[in-house]
Amino acid sequence: MGMRTNLNDVRNLGILAHVDAGKTTITERILYATGVTYKRGEVHDGTTVTDFDPQERDRGITIFAAAVSCAWNGRQINLIDTPGHVDFSHEVERSLRVLDGAVVVFDGVAGVEPQTESVWRQADRYGVPRIAFVNKLDRPGADVDAVAESIRARLRATPLVVQLPIGREAGFTGVVDLVRMRSLIWSDDDTVEEGPVPEALQDEARRRARLLHEAVAERHPLALEEFCAESAVSAPTLTAALRDLTCSGEAVVVLCGSAYRNRGIEPLLDAIGAYLPSPLDVPPVRGTRDGEAGERAADPAAPFAGLVFKVNSTASGRLTYLRVYSGTVRRGDTVRDVGARRTERIGRILRVRADRHTEVAVAVAGDIVAVAGLKAAAAGASLCDPAAPILFESAAVADRVVSVA
Ligand code: GDP
Repeated sequence: MGMRTNLNDVRNLGILAHVDAGKTTITERILYATGVTYKRGEVHDGTTVTDFDPQERDRGITIFAAAVSCAWNGRQINLIDTPGHVDFSHEVERSLRVLDGAVVVFDGVAGVEPQTESVWRQADRYGVPRIAFVNKLDRPGADVDAVAESIRARLRATPLVVQLPIGREAGFTGVVDLVRMRSLIWSDDDTVEEGPVPEALQDEARRRARLLHEAVAERHPLALEEFCAESAVSAPTLTAALRDLTCSGEAVVVLCGSAYRNRGIEPLLDAIGAYLPSPLDVPPVRGTRDGEAGERAADPAAPFAGLVFKVNSTASGRLTYLRVYSGTVRRGDTVRDVGARRTERIGRILRVRADRHTEVAVAVAGDIVAVAGLKAAAAGASLCDPAAPILFESAAVADRVVSVA
């Protein structure tokens, strides 16, 4: 049986990107860093663990969404693998409904690409808070500042760059964390060393930290005097402010790295925990009941309700991926598929990891699990306590829409 995690420590996360930006590689490196896989998979030799469908391996793109759970610093991160290819954007939309936050990946050379723009708009539409990861910093011409500028110009968002790269292109070896004013340097054996800001970068790091503090203070009710770029004292205040700005969609924290070279993944995982919302931080999900509007908050004591976002046929049977919005569900429970006007019985409930599935006793509000034993529920089905039906499909799509500035 899997351990239970406090809902505050759960992150339901999607990685959104233009095809080729490095989403698969980042997913791989996250699973590697969190100990789910012990060997680094490589996209080019077809050994990655998330792209398990042979068709996906052949095509080298992620077609089908799958959810994978991993743990980092006491937090449970549920990675919902969203398809990046534009032909499958309806599947992207479905997966956006079950995310609480996202990492948007940019190619450090190409910056904002047309597909990035379309996933960005979709994420706006569903009110998904996001952080940006500028990948491929090892490539000639890669430039975090230029990408941040294209985020501002083309996506009309407010980028807040929180790292200063150490070294350029092939010499990219680390970052200065401008929030904590510490440096992180990677070595070729995948170890990361934390230390003081290198002497040669101190002036530049201080200047950048001040700009970051000013940009935050402009948008957040925090006195600028509270910040002192040279001490770590301001780090918790700055982190809290960055989290507020991220969760409200007012700004986008920008990090950087080179997934291929396994650089920048640990700070990315830290940032996911620090800045992106837990299921408790997002507004209740809306739906309808007999034509009337209804909503469900992430309360484990409320009646059970959830949304099926993916169905996979596996060698061991049908696996139904479920986002639980409210309540608690157990093996053997009878649930109502409201849209299909059918009743089904919950089989084994599994926490899906890349390498194995762990059976859990219950799934509660905020969880993402796979359920065995459901015979008919399709992607998009609303499953709930028969005594408290609610329909999320279509109505939920419309109701989670937020205004796009
Ligand atoms: P996806 O289509 O977004 O899933 O992108 P992939 O992860 O499949 O990566 C696309 C290509 O870019 C692959 O050939 C990767 O090896 C390569 N790639 C990924 N990350 C990096 C990086 O940090 N630096 C460089 N130079 N190449 C990378």
